[in-house]
Amino acid sequence: MFPPPSHLQNLVLPLKVDASKDDDTEFVGALVCPCGCNEFILLYAGGAIGKGKTKSLGYAEVDGENFYIVKARCTRCDAEHLIFDDDFHGWNGYVCAPVDGNRNRRRPDLEPWECAECSCLVHKATVWIIGDTKEFYLKENEGILNEVNWFEAFGSFIMSIECVTCGLRRGGWAEVETM
Ligand SMILES: [Zn+2]
Ligand SMILES: [Zn+2]
Repeated sequence: MFPPPSHLQNLVLPLKVDASKDDDTEFVGALVCPCGCNEFILLYAGGAIGKGKTKSLGYAEVDGENFYIVKARCTRCDAEHLIFDDDFHGWNGYVCAPVDGNRNRRRPDLEPWECAECSCLVHKATVWIIGDTKEFYLKENEGILNEVNWFEAFGSFIMSIECVTCGLRRGGWAEVETM
């Protein structure tokens, strides 16, 4: 299994995959707050693709700049966790953004995601991280990646969600390539 990036390590509970299908370039885990709760209000930068029940996250354009940010606010303890930010995570965020200066951009306000069926704001979530092999990252290290942090430069972030009220499931609710 691909190691989860450091900012998610205390937020994801690895889901058991069939050993024959286990792949060291993929991670899948349920989103769980350190307090033990797995129900969240999901916050995003406002960008979306599609409509109604097929609406999913997209890049938000704010003052001509693009942002892809997902946070999860725990419904039990109110802690707000950063789940994905294009300027900090994955290949572009970890390897390129510090050089490009994108991390210093003014961050847009976030809004809560509403279930398209029942308007509920509370969801459970599953996170997939897809990367390449450790050997790949140590070779393509850009002077930044090493034995300790290579998995921070993962290639794709995917999140599926399920409404806790009506059960509407959205596979691939968030799906972004970071390279
Ligand atoms: Zn919590
Ligand atoms: Zn619902």
